[in-house]
Amino acid sequence: MPGFDSMQGQIWIDGELRDWTDARVHLLTHGLHYASSVFEGNRAYGGQIFKLTEHSERLHRSAEFLGFEIPYSVEQINAACIAVLEANGLAESDAYVRPIAWRGSEMMAISAQNTTIHLAVATWQMGKYFKKDGVRLQTTKWRRPSPESAPVHSKAAGLYMICTLAKHAAEKEGFDDALMLDYRGYIAEGTGANVFFVHDGALHTPTPDCFLDGITRRTVIELARAQGMQVVERHISPDELPTFSEAFFTGTAAEVTPISQIDGQHFNVGAVTDSLVQAYTKATRGE
Ligand code: PMP
Repeated sequence: MPGFDSMQGQIWIDGELRDWTDARVHLLTHGLHYASSVFEGNRAYGGQIFKLTEHSERLHRSAEFLGFEIPYSVEQINAACIAVLEANGLAESDAYVRPIAWRGSEMMAISAQNTTIHLAVATWQMGKYFKKDGVRLQTTKWRRPSPESAPVHSKAAGLYMICTLAKHAAEKEGFDDALMLDYRGYIAEGTGANVFFVHDGALHTPTPDCFLDGITRRTVIELARAQGMQVVERHISPDELPTFSEAFFTGTAAEVTPISQIDGQHFNVGAVTDSLVQAYTKATRGE
C-alpha cells in the first residue's frame, strides 16, 4: 500500500522546503527511539489555518514540558505552516497541517541533553476525520495517566501509545473510537478528541486536569456561551452516562462530531449538538 512517505509534494524541514520523498530522518534518531517528539494538528479551511497561532504556541509549550526548546519562534512556525500549504498548491484548499519537533541523533541513550532539536511541517488534503455523523464508542481499559506520571498537557507523541492501543481494540469490536477514563475513573476524552455531554440543555465536559484542553474544546465552549448555553466543567463519572441526552466530540481533526453510542448507551443527535456543529462550521469556514 503506498504510504504517506511516497506522496508527491514538498515538506518544510529545518528551515527549507524539500521534496516529499527526501524529507527523511536517520534511523538512529532520539525522537523515534525514546518518543522525544511533540506535534500539532492544524486544519486549513480554504487555505486559512484556523487558530494557527494557538497551535504554534501549544507546540512550543509541548516541547517545554518535554524539556526542550524549539529553535523557531511561533511566528516562524506560523510562516512555515503557510509556506508548506502554498508549496503544495493548497493555499485555497481544505487541508491538514502537521508540524512536528523532535530530538535528533547526537545521543542514542536515555540522556539526550545535547541533541539538536528539529522541526518539520507537512500538509495533506483531509476531509472528515470520522466518516459518519454519530460515532460509536467503546470504553477502553487504557486510562489517561495522572499529572505525576506523564507530561499530560503536552501534545507529546509518547502519550499516543495508549490511544492507538485503545482505538485498535475498539475498532476490532466494530466501534469507531474508544472513550478513555482517567486514572481516577472519571471520563476523560476520546483517543484524539475531547468529549461533551448534554443534560437539560446545558453542556457538561470533563475538567482538563490530566489531558489536553483542546483548542476546539475552548472554541466550542465560547460558541456555546455566546448562544446563552450553560457550560459546566467538572469531573464526570461513567455512571452518569444514562442521564445525558446527547454527546459529541471536539477536535481539530474531529471538528464537532456527534456521538451516537457509548457501550450500551445510545444518544440522539439532537438540537444542541446540531446548533454547535453549525456554529463551529460558521466559525471555521465563515458559512
Ligand atoms: N485530545 C487528544 C488526545 C487529541 O489528540 C486532540 C487533538 N489534538 C484533542 C484532545 C483535541 O485538541 P484540539 O481541539 O486542540 O485539536
